[in-house]
Amino acid sequence: MNLIDGKATAAAIKAEIKAEVEDIVSKGGKRPHLAAVLVGHDGGSETYVKNKVLACEACGFRSTLLRYEDDITEEALLDVVRQLNEDDDIDGFIVQLPLPHHISEQKVTEAIDYRKDVDGFHPVNVGRMAIGLPCFISATPLGILTLLQRYNIPTSGKKVAVLGRSNIVGKPMAQLMMQKQYGDSTVTVLHSHSANLKEECAQADIVIAAIGRPAFVTADMVKEGAVVIDVGTTRVPDATRKNGFRLQGDVDFDAVAPKCSYITPVPGGVGPMTICMLMLNTLAAGKKQIYS
Ligand code: NAP
Repeated sequence: MNLIDGKATAAAIKAEIKAEVEDIVSKGGKRPHLAAVLVGHDGGSETYVKNKVLACEACGFRSTLLRYEDDITEEALLDVVRQLNEDDDIDGFIVQLPLPHHISEQKVTEAIDYRKDVDGFHPVNVGRMAIGLPCFISATPLGILTLLQRYNIPTSGKKVAVLGRSNIVGKPMAQLMMQKQYGDSTVTVLHSHSANLKEECAQADIVIAAIGRPAFVTADMVKEGAVVIDVGTTRVPDATRKNGFRLQGDVDFDAVAPKCSYITPVPGGVGPMTICMLMLNTLAAGKKQIYS
């Protein structure tokens, strides 16, 4: 069994990004600039945004954090988005989700200029990804694809089971694994209404679990030699931890790992790659690599 080290891979990629940024700047180019919009004080969102700002520093980017109270109106937030769209110094920006219930996340996502949509959530980017055109690919599926590539794990012609069909993980992951220029695999998407989920999963060469159900994938659902990618990060109570919880993946790691050729741990697998891919998208935005 080989452990896929997302933390080390992400650190290596961030170092590569920083080297490229310093090269760009030394030649008179512009330092990439990412803005993050944070509404309210949700603990998880605060942590994610803080880590994104820290990652910007590690990559040599400029970053701007715009904070608003959770009583900001939808119109006011849409105005913020419009200003960021028009600000030539901002190469890319994100609006951290979730947003308060009175604000339509879809409206806000669609208001973002797709050329600055480094999260890859705008329908233009989602659509372009689906038909294989250059675009910003959302960070978690791009991180998984990158891990598979960096570990030289063959995907072409392989049978892949994607557990979960959310817009931010399951669906784009399945699309990417299916496409000729990325995974080139045969993909089965499994969800809460799938019949024979266990049997389907047990036939897969590569299992990608993104359902948010702790330890859902058990040893009998994984074939000998399979590659298992665990996207799940559920906070489960843990009295031995200072913060009172630990992160638990969707895979019963101890039972499944001995059967795998490769497996990602939680934490330290997919998670660190997600922010790293946001940085890669920001670099691409700064270089006007995808959209001029
Ligand atoms: P989501 O929007 O809640 O979607 C969950 C998906 O799993 C749905 O498609 C759902 O099916 C399916 N599902 C739920 N219970 C199931 C069951 N018992 N059997 C089969 N399918 C089931 O979740 P998400 O945003 O995709 O996130 C999934 C997990 O990944 C979460 O733990 C999340 O925290 C984690 N995550 C991690 C990262 C990272 O960077 N590491 C990034 C994003 C998400 P239906 O469609 O039928 O409801």
